[in-house]
Amino acid sequence: MADFDTAATPGFDGGKADAAELQAERSARLAELQEMLYANWKAAGDHRSVLLVLQGMDAAGKGGIVKHVVGAVNPMGVRYTAFGRPTEEELAHHFLWRIRRALPPAGHIGVFDRSHYEDVLIVRVHNLVPPEVWEPRYDEINAFERELVDAGTTLVKVAMFISLGRQKEQLLERLDDPTKHWKYNPGDVDERQHWPRYQEAYQAMLERTSTEYAPWHMLPADRRWYGRLAVTELLIAALEALGLSWPPADFDVEAERKRLLTT
Ligand code: ATP
Ligand code: MG
Repeated sequence: MADFDTAATPGFDGGKADAAELQAERSARLAELQEMLYANWKAAGDHRSVLLVLQGMDAAGKGGIVKHVVGAVNPMGVRYTAFGRPTEEELAHHFLWRIRRALPPAGHIGVFDRSHYEDVLIVRVHNLVPPEVWEPRYDEINAFERELVDAGTTLVKVAMFISLGRQKEQLLERLDDPTKHWKYNPGDVDERQHWPRYQEAYQAMLERTSTEYAPWHMLPADRRWYGRLAVTELLIAALEALGLSWPPADFDVEAERKRLLTT
């Protein structure tokens, strides 16, 4: 992670202006594939689903991915969940309890805005539980994700990385713009003190939970437009790998046409 270039745009050699046109085109493709996933569940009982897991420091742009990438598809087929500080009730349960309750139903795209990974990130950095408790979580997470994949959920795990300097710019932008004050959290400034420990925790997460069945994608997130394009492509690739096609009619199309025309 120390060598990771957060301003890079791997796989894309154009700039922001070129990205806009491509984004529109690829968003349309993503929307089509999502509709196909949904249609196959509705019409043919296909039980498969996709789960997008978004992790990243404050102001990394998770919200922008949700708004612009997920926002391009039909909300009917999306199950969005943001995971903030656990409630009393959630804390009384195993850390995966609230996660299981938010999993996407068949035919849907689930979106986790933060996730079970907070339980090995902020929890580790702030010692919210002792190491004996968070340490085994990496293996528990791997086993949990194996179970999800075996049950037909494709995981798309995206870790968004911005530089400390870029984060400062983003937070300043929120202060400078009254329409963005609602996004500003004074606690985010305190969290900046813990940046090296977060880097360490992210590194451990990548090393220990990137599996062949549920790999992590490290997303350079300094350039917002690039992140959107990249996550759109990751979702398209995940959906295309399902080999979907439009479900055939389970009725006689010609007979129905005749019947309809006589009404
Ligand atoms: P975000 O920072 O994601 O853009 P937000 O600040 O509006 O959104 P909040 O509802 O305040 O969202 O929740 C986010 C905070 O909750 C983060 O600081 C995150 O680290 C913390 N959090 C999430 N899951 C856990 C967890 N399992 N244990 C402790 N803290 C958690
Ligand atoms: Mg926050």
